[in-house]
Amino acid sequence: MSEGWKAVDDYIAGKLLGDDAALAAALANNKVQSLPPIDVSATQGKMLSLLAQVAGARRILEVGTLGGYSTIWLARALPEDGALVTLEIESEHARVARENLERAGVSAKVDIRVGPARDSLAAMTDAAPFDFVFIDADKQNNAHYVAEAIRLGRSGTVVVVDNVVREGGVLDADSGDPRIDGTRALFDMLSAEPRLDATAVQTVGAKKWDGFVLARVR
Ligand code: SAM
Repeated sequence: MSEGWKAVDDYIAGKLLGDDAALAAALANNKVQSLPPIDVSATQGKMLSLLAQVAGARRILEVGTLGGYSTIWLARALPEDGALVTLEIESEHARVARENLERAGVSAKVDIRVGPARDSLAAMTDAAPFDFVFIDADKQNNAHYVAEAIRLGRSGTVVVVDNVVREGGVLDADSGDPRIDGTRALFDMLSAEPRLDATAVQTVGAKKWDGFVLARVR
């Protein structure tokens, strides 16, 4: 990783984000409890929170909770009566997330559903329509998750999918990496999906060279 990318992320965070005890405590707790450090960065978390607010989101769906770092950012974007459903396959991750959400004071707004996200989505009869969907779990299922976001959304729902550049790996049709194959399948799906208006933006920073899809349900 370029040293400069991380330094600029730190500069932006220092200028625009400030210190945040609850978020710092969540990352520290994740580390103590041996969760992998694959949460979004602070600047990305703030971007998600701002996007959810710009969308006027009252109901948010997240696929991939980990320790709830991005969940905290998103839950903070909600109004008092807002709600967030987050899906996580690992019960241990969900347990740590519950601790972090409680400490951050947002647990009353958040419903963590444990199990394979495909199953949780298929069984979801409540909570929809969602105004904002953040997808950040197993990349193999990204196209399916976006299709579910459309089904559980409405016209105007905003969909963000993380990690869609993978240090340029997205260009490699023969990688044999299921995460890259899943990402390429996502782009194939998006390019053929008339119900979505979508773009993808490359990013560099503390999380190296990557990017996200931003889409809106027509
Ligand atoms: N969004 C989190 C954040 O920024 O703080 C990071 C999520 S992490 C990149 C991906 C999470 O998705 C992991 O906790 C992993 O256990 C979970 N996951 C992987 N496959 C899943 C599946 N099939 N269903 C639900 N969750 C899954």
